[in-house]
Amino acid sequence: MIELDGVTKIFQSGRGRVQALSDVSFLLPEAAFAAVVGKSGSGKSTLLACIGGLESPDSGSILCFGTPVHRLGGRQLSLFQRRLVGFVFQRGNLLSYLTVSENIGFPMTLNRVDAKECKKRIDELLDRIGLASAAGAMPHELSGGEAQRVALARAIAHHPKMLLADEPTANLDSATGREVTALMREMGKDFGCTVFMATHDTEIVDAADTVLYLRDGRLRH
Ligand code: ADP
Ligand code: MG
Repeated sequence: MIELDGVTKIFQSGRGRVQALSDVSFLLPEAAFAAVVGKSGSGKSTLLACIGGLESPDSGSILCFGTPVHRLGGRQLSLFQRRLVGFVFQRGNLLSYLTVSENIGFPMTLNRVDAKECKKRIDELLDRIGLASAAGAMPHELSGGEAQRVALARAIAHHPKMLLADEPTANLDSATGREVTALMREMGKDFGCTVFMATHDTEIVDAADTVLYLRDGRLRH
């Protein structure tokens, strides 16, 4: 379960003070397939970043599976991110100097999954995303859709409790976006993983069980 209570985030920059999130509260059940939508600048990425511990809120609390993310720092935060979270971004997810297999295996190596199990999971995931033949390919040899499928496999390989995806289909054509959305949904269900996506994509919005609407950092009900 992901539970936010009164989350507020303010950025101070050369452009002045921006309240990116204002008093955001909601609850997502375990294994939800949820989306947050809103115009550019409405606070979607900031919301995901706070939940994943990449940003820390100025006030309010964030509980992810019992862990108070807003209070974590240093090693505890790294362990939380490494074990419980999978991230997928719009682009640039893959390490350019590692093969597809090595990219998928990377978070398992960090989590010290033993080599045999790691290999087994990589093979299963490659099958699952329909890229068994691309195991040894380098990221620059992949299409955008293939790269996002690999990013998804990598994000879920260590069996995280939640997958945070920031506009994962924004650079894909609609048919490919639909495929990636379907894969996220299936894999989330099969791995018992909560999936939370920021998006503009109506395909994702239609597929989601829960949709949250943000406007100027506030949740619309
Ligand atoms: P979205 O993902 O919905 O486009 P963001 O969460 O990226 O929205 O941004 C919300 C608001 O916070 C915007 O006004 C943006 O300019 C501002 N913002 C986001 N990140 C930063 C930052 N690191 N420094 C200053 N302002 C930021
Ligand atoms: Mg964004």
